[in-house]
Amino acid sequence: MTKRKTTAQKHRTLLIAKQGGKCCYCERRLLHHMTALENGNVHPRAATIEHLRRRCEGGSNHLDNKAVACHECNTSRGSTDWLTYKSLKMGELVA
Ligand SMILES: [Zn+2]
Repeated sequence: MTKRKTTAQKHRTLLIAKQGGKCCYCERRLLHHMTALENGNVHPRAATIEHLRRRCEGGSNHLDNKAVACHECNTSRGSTDWLTYKSLKMGELVA
């Protein structure tokens, strides 16, 4: 096994730094390394790469189109537009 980092891993590190270590949606602090729970599931605060504009909608794989979100936000966003989803998340925090 080599330790060579993939582009995705490099992007994740860059984005975590750029976002101050916070999720782009709920702004909770992310775990810097993908962390598995004891039951094998991904930790809800694990940092995952989010494509702001979906690849199927013509979104690029470029860093500009990426952000880091916690696993929980990433998996619950569904088909919601990222800006709408962000508003929903922030609204929940204020309410
Ligand atoms: Zn989040």
